[in-house]
Amino acid sequence: KSKPQNVFLALAASLQPDPERTALVFNETSFSYREFLDLSENAARKLVSLNIGKGDRVAAIAQNRPEMLVLYYAAARIGAIYVPMNPNLSETELEYAFGHSKAKILFHDAQSGEGVAAKIPAEQRRPIESLIEPAGPVELSPADSITLDDDFLIIYTSGTTGRPKAILLDHAAQVGAALSLAEMWAIGRDDITLVALPLGFLYGLSTASAVSLQAGGKVVLLARFRPQDVLEALVAHKATIYHGVPTMYSMMLEYCEQQNRDFDLSHVREIICAGAPLPLEMRRRFAARFRKELQNYYAMTECTPVFGRYSRDPQPVPEGSVGKAAPGLAYRIVRSDGSDCAPGEQGEILVRAAATVKEYYGAPELTASAMVDGYFKSGDLGYFDADGFFFITGRIKDIIIRGGANISPSEVEEALLSHPAVQDVSVVGGPDRIFGEVPVAFVIRRAGAEVSVEELIAHAGECLADFKVPRSIHFIESFPLGKTGKIDKNALKAMLESK
Ligand code: ATP
Repeated sequence: KSKPQNVFLALAASLQPDPERTALVFNETSFSYREFLDLSENAARKLVSLNIGKGDRVAAIAQNRPEMLVLYYAAARIGAIYVPMNPNLSETELEYAFGHSKAKILFHDAQSGEGVAAKIPAEQRRPIESLIEPAGPVELSPADSITLDDDFLIIYTSGTTGRPKAILLDHAAQVGAALSLAEMWAIGRDDITLVALPLGFLYGLSTASAVSLQAGGKVVLLARFRPQDVLEALVAHKATIYHGVPTMYSMMLEYCEQQNRDFDLSHVREIICAGAPLPLEMRRRFAARFRKELQNYYAMTECTPVFGRYSRDPQPVPEGSVGKAAPGLAYRIVRSDGSDCAPGEQGEILVRAAATVKEYYGAPELTASAMVDGYFKSGDLGYFDADGFFFITGRIKDIIIRGGANISPSEVEEALLSHPAVQDVSVVGGPDRIFGEVPVAFVIRRAGAEVSVEELIAHAGECLADFKVPRSIHFIESFPLGKTGKIDKNALKAMLESK
C-alpha cells in the first residue's frame, strides 16, 4: 500500500471497500465513512467560503464532539493549519494561544462561546456546529494538491512543566505516526476505539481517534472522561481499544471498589496507558480487578511513536518496561556530558521518530535548545536493558535533589502504593533548609481505609533507603489535575509553599 499524500487522503483510503461502515459514534448519532468524509469535505468548503486557505490557521475550542474531528480532516483537505484547544483553558490562556498561533477564526461550542471565548472578536468566532451545516457551492482545489511537507497542526503540550509549548507538525508527521501506531496495535476494520481523552490534545485527537479512523476502525467518542461512563461504554459498545492516562485508570478502579461493581472487559484487547509513569502496583490492581493488563506506552507530543509493545510481538515485555524502540526510531541515551550510556546505565533519552516536531511554533530559541544533531531531547531519564527493552525512570525536572542525592519520585510513589490503604499518591520535592529539597507525599486513601501518617512513613522505610523516605505525608481527597488529566505537580508544590 502506497503512503497517502496527506491526512485527508489517508482518511479517504479507509472508505473502501464498504463506505457504509460506521466510522464514528457520538451519543445516539453515528456516521458512516461516506457520511464522515462528506461532512469533512463540506466543512472544507465552509472554511473556503470563510476565506480560509492554505497555510491559514483555524482554531477550535469545545468539549469532545464530532466537529472537532471533522475540522481536523477539513483543514487537512485544504492545507489549512488546525489549532485544537481544550475547553478548560482560562480566558487569558485562550487569548494567548489564539493570538500566538495567529489563528484567523475560532470555532467554539455554546459553553465556550459564552465563557472562555467571549473576548475573541465576534467577527473571528463561529459556532462549531456551523461546520456541518450545508456549505454553498464552493470549488475545492484537487485533494492531492496538499503534500506531506505541508504544515498541518499547531498543538499544545500538556503544560506539566511550565507554560504549554506550541508544536508545529506537518502532514508527514501525522500520516507517518498513524501508520506506525496502527501497525503497533494491529488496528484494523474490526476495531472499536473508545475515546474519552480530550480532543484538544494530540493523544486524544491523533493517537486515539485519527489513528483508528485512518485504519478503517470505528471510533466511539465520549464528551469527556467519567469513570462510570467509560466503563459502561466499553461494555455497551464492545470496544476493543481504550486509551488513558494513569490517573484515569486509578479513578476507574476507585469507582469499581466504591460501588462494588464489576465490568467484563474481556473484549478490550489493548488498554493503553501513556502520558505519565504507570506505577507497577496500579498495574497489578488493574489486572486483579479486570483480568486485563494495562499496557504502558511512553509518548510525548513532540515525537511519536517512540517505544512500545507490538501487538503481534510474542516476546513478553518485562515488568516496568515501556517496550522496545519503534521501527525507524533513532535514539540515544546520553550522560550529562553528551556521551552515550551503556546498557543499564541511566541517562537522558534523545529521539528522532516518524513524527518529530518540526519546531516549537514561534519559539526558535526553544527549538534550538530542544534539538541536538536532529534528535529531540525528551527531558526524561531512562535506560535500556541487554535485550533492548526501555525503562523510564523519571523527568529531569521532577527529580528531587536532596542534599546532592537524586531521588526519582516514581520510586517513592511505588513504595507508598504498595500499602493496601493507599488509593493513589504523588510525590514532589518540598523545600528544606538543610537539604534544599526533600521528598513529600500527597496520598489519597482508599474509601473506608484507616491509616496514619506514621504508619505510612514506617511502611516507606521498609521499602526504601532512608534518604528517600518522605519527610512528610499529606492526605488529600483528590489531586489537582492538569488539562490532559495528569497530576499537576506544580500545584502540589504550591500547596506546600502556602502551608
Ligand atoms: P509539557 O511539555 O508542557 O511540560 P508534558 O511533557 O506533560 O507537558 P506531553 O507531551 O503530554 O506534555 O507528555 C510527555 C511526557 O509525559 C514525557 O516527556 C514523559 O515525561 C511523560 N510520559 C509519557 N508517557 C510516559 C510513561 N509511559 N512513563 C513515564 N512517563 C511518561
